[in-house]
Amino acid sequence: RELTVELGERSYPIYIGEGLLDKAGELFERHGISKKSPLMIITDTHVAERHLAHLESVLQSAGFTVGSAIVPAGETSKSLSELGRLTGIALESGLDRKSTIVALGGGVVGDLAGFVAASYMRGIKFVQVPTTILAHDSSVGGKVAVNHPLAKNIIGAFHQPELVLYDLLTLQTLPERQVKAGLSEVVKHGLIWDAEFVAWCDENAGKLLALDSDALGYALYKGCSVKAAVVSKDERENDLRAILNLGHTIGHALEAVAGYNELLHGEAIAIGMIGSAKLAVQLGAPEEVYQVTKRVLSRVGLPVRLPEHLDTDEIMRAMMHDKKFQEGTMVFIVPTAIGTVEINKSVSSALVREIVEQLKQEAV
Ligand code: NAD
Ligand code: ZN
Repeated sequence: RELTVELGERSYPIYIGEGLLDKAGELFERHGISKKSPLMIITDTHVAERHLAHLESVLQSAGFTVGSAIVPAGETSKSLSELGRLTGIALESGLDRKSTIVALGGGVVGDLAGFVAASYMRGIKFVQVPTTILAHDSSVGGKVAVNHPLAKNIIGAFHQPELVLYDLLTLQTLPERQVKAGLSEVVKHGLIWDAEFVAWCDENAGKLLALDSDALGYALYKGCSVKAAVVSKDERENDLRAILNLGHTIGHALEAVAGYNELLHGEAIAIGMIGSAKLAVQLGAPEEVYQVTKRVLSRVGLPVRLPEHLDTDEIMRAMMHDKKFQEGTMVFIVPTAIGTVEINKSVSSALVREIVEQLKQEAV
């Protein structure tokens, strides 16, 4: 499958399919990746072990000059010190303005390598080769960043890739918990945009969890399409792009309070999406919004109940640090039906508190 992210001059294709790594050489060439300048693959330790040699050898046989750099797996690699180290490797490997950086990995590698590409010599080309399900989200849209000890994703840029190459075979090695967490964002893309796709996820949850190639290819295609459609209409997050944050206001607060080891991002936003659905019903949406949201998320194996030991006050404080909070009301992305959401700028924080409490009692 193939789709295009429409961004005028910066438009780029997303290829999704089985065995695409084998075609990397010809696809790179087709999309203007230079063979004259050296190319650098950035990946992490887990992905390097499984897929790096494969990509290196395909690109080398196609005539590219390939170097690679490996960072430790995990969020802590999205740091200024890794940015500095990778920039050093790029310089030593002779990367020039015509060079390309290839991000082989999940969202961590994509964000980090993308930011290296955005900043090296004021910006060189890059290619996304996502290897997690979650990365269908992070590899589309051009947001790249590293973290600062005081805030996540705070040092970043908008830098669009030349192409995205999504080889479904790489996903076969993904740990089950990461599969489920990635599906959370897939379901989110349905919930904000496409009721039919939500129904499809509901019916095909089993196939998705089994990493059935056809089902996975379709789901990632739909997820990427929604993200691409939203980003095309609002590349720089002026308004519409905010709907991608469904479940994230509560979700980010949970990640901050629980710590990133207890809850994966996808797990936290699953609970957040159930919260938004409960909120929606309180604000007048049909009961079905809550029932369907919860059913689909449970079917893809995600948690629906907020861990009871997390302190409600702390969660509320974490949410209020979010710039979206103002004098007793908060900005929330709220579903109005399955497949559509609105940006509600005056949700009472007292009501949100009530929802957080209810989420701790949620039947599983
Ligand atoms: P990740 O990159 O850390 O990958 C999760 C884990 O899976 C890691 O341990 C990784 O080594 C391992 N892994 C990756 N591919 C594998 C494979 N094929 N086989 C076996 N193991 C594999 O995390 P993620 O969930 O992909 O991404 C999370 C990051 O994405 C966060 O930093 C988040 O901020 C970012 N993000 C960015 C955007 C954006 O728009 N730029 C959007 C959403 C999330
Ligand atoms: Zn997210």
